[in-house]
Amino acid sequence: MATLPILQHEEKIIETVNQNHVVVIIGETGSGKSTQLSQILHRHGYSNSGKIAVTQPRRVAAVSVARRVSQELGVHLGEEVGYAIRFEDRTSHNTHIKYLTDGVLLRESLADPELNDYSVIILDEAHERSLNTDILMGLMKRLVKVRSSDFKVLITSATLDGNKVSKFFTDCPVLTIPGKLYPVEILYSKERPSSYLESSLKTALDIHARQPEGDILIFMTGQDDIEKLVSKLEDKVRALEEGSCMDAIILPLHGSLPPELQVRVFSPPPPNCRRIIVATNIAETSLTVDGVVYVIDSGYVKQRQYNPSAGMYSLDVVQISKVQANQRAGRAGRTRPGKCYRLYPSRVYDVELLDATVPEIQRSSLAGCVLYLKSLDLPDIDILKFDFLDPPSSESLQDALKQLYLIDAIDGNGAITSIGRKMAELPLEPSLSRTLMEANNYGCISEALSVAAMLSAETALLSAPGRSKTERKRKNPVTNLPDGSGLGDHIQLLQIYECWDQTDYDIGWCKDNGLQVRGMLFVRDVRKQLSQIMQKIAKGPLDIRANGKGEEFRKGYRNLRKALCTGYANQLAERKMHHNGYRILGFQAQVVQVHPSSVLKADELGKFPDYVVYHELIATPRPYMRNVCSVEMRWVVPIINKLKTLDVYKLSGGVEHVEEETERNLPDLPKKDAEVAASSDDRESRIQAARERFLARKGKK
Ligand code: ADP
Ligand code: MG
Repeated sequence: MATLPILQHEEKIIETVNQNHVVVIIGETGSGKSTQLSQILHRHGYSNSGKIAVTQPRRVAAVSVARRVSQELGVHLGEEVGYAIRFEDRTSHNTHIKYLTDGVLLRESLADPELNDYSVIILDEAHERSLNTDILMGLMKRLVKVRSSDFKVLITSATLDGNKVSKFFTDCPVLTIPGKLYPVEILYSKERPSSYLESSLKTALDIHARQPEGDILIFMTGQDDIEKLVSKLEDKVRALEEGSCMDAIILPLHGSLPPELQVRVFSPPPPNCRRIIVATNIAETSLTVDGVVYVIDSGYVKQRQYNPSAGMYSLDVVQISKVQANQRAGRAGRTRPGKCYRLYPSRVYDVELLDATVPEIQRSSLAGCVLYLKSLDLPDIDILKFDFLDPPSSESLQDALKQLYLIDAIDGNGAITSIGRKMAELPLEPSLSRTLMEANNYGCISEALSVAAMLSAETALLSAPGRSKTERKRKNPVTNLPDGSGLGDHIQLLQIYECWDQTDYDIGWCKDNGLQVRGMLFVRDVRKQLSQIMQKIAKGPLDIRANGKGEEFRKGYRNLRKALCTGYANQLAERKMHHNGYRILGFQAQVVQVHPSSVLKADELGKFPDYVVYHELIATPRPYMRNVCSVEMRWVVPIINKLKTLDVYKLSGGVEHVEEETERNLPDLPKKDAEVAASSDDRESRIQAARERFLARKGKK
């Protein structure tokens, strides 16, 4: 323990922190920043006047590091040392050291903008440049001015450009902890492999057969690839001749790994056994596994990328940056000299890889971020001029304002509305928050809560750990899950939850239906938490029983779908006249499809509903709407009218464009306006068709 580099600089750190409000600490990954810094400050009395907060961009890192620190201090997790992540708070009144995601700290600052609970805030893993950490940096800059001198901010990072951050914080000191890194030999592939999965497999087996002991760490892009590679490795290792080489255990490591499997990665291997760890970029800097000597670097990472003009996310496998490549290589030299096998030629590294990763703020939808900043209500903060380390593009800020306007979170002048203020209190994306607010008006809050909770846990729901989708299907050939009554996926999610509620939360029922038990229990817990927040916002008791109402009420789920339509006004699609492709309202013309996994039903003519809202629009690489729900045209019309009168300049709180009031020719939204106009003919004929259907029905009666 005493050898961790950061502990050798304890005095220097304390001295610098004593004399400064803000200190940047740069130290090699594994030098002890995440686990030791909080303890050092605690030892020197910094937790006497408040808690020490350490933020992490990743949930799993917050949990894992907190667990480690509680072990080192010999205390129960959740007591002196605890953690808080979205929907899970494991702290108590005597918690001194609190690990939390950057998102949770942002949320806490809504309730207490000065964060008076904390004497020290450590923004850890700042090099990840997560959106939330970037916002926090801006807030901290303000907070150190507002709060008294005993408030300290530390910013730690493995690779961050320290000078840039130091400048941002008016030239605060930068402490660099010299790392103890052994030389790492870099071996490049001659060519880029046709399959990096196969190439990783082969390289790993070669190392295992020929190289001396030492664990292997393989960087893959995501859970799917990891699971595939793990199972291939297991087969191959099992097939190796007995006694031909040492034993090997294969371990996956990624963000959605259940806790009990995560722990395995950190427990030491049995003697004469090599570990092969197959990880996402989570093992790049957030989590350090000891014993790694060989690194296999695919050169790729999975990255979410938002395109503000299309309103669409894409989840792309992209090349890593040079910084990431060096981080990955560095993992091989922590305990002794190591080797890094780059599955790409050196020219790719030299010529193609970007120097640094693009910060998340420049590739995310900013609706949540802007709503948050607007609701802070700080007189000295102006969103569009907010002090960011790297500012987002004005296009994505305007996109965020437009979205918030459509869901009534801000008014036509860009000022936050009372609805917007309430929305910000919910730890959900803006569309779901808005849906909950509206559902409360329509008497279907309990249904909306179930939907929101199910969507918040959705990824964890249907995938049993360590099992591929095909295997799961084989295991559970028939399930009796409800089908959403043809109305769509939100309704199905609601029905699933209600069925489960009627079994009195029977675990066997989940298993019988191929639902992950842990996921469903999580949903129940999330639902409870959301209910509590909603009761607080509504300032009174609500009817939140999951099965509180009769059949009649449920028919057609009209109220719920209406609430969803208001909530997802920024995620609304109109079907093309002659086929089942949809066009997103308010965004660039692009035809998108309903995801094949959707339970949305077509009518007897094979047509999907005219209008749907969707939870997520993602290019994979074809653009699909995931989780869709059918809505009615009469609910959509007011939203279309709103789109027509939208003035993005006014929303920005900027100059008013009086002269353009009549001639709607906004340079930022030319396509959209043309689109609205072009499709109004469509809409006319739809209205006509609906009228005729209505008259026909009336005639029959
Ligand atoms: P940094 O944040 O500087 O990257 P950490 O504080 O996360 O470093 O880790 C410091 C050292 O503590 C690691 O090198 C590792 O040896 C050890 N360590 C951290 N977390 C765990 C854990 N969960 N189990 C075992 N060892 C750990
Ligand atoms: Mg760390």
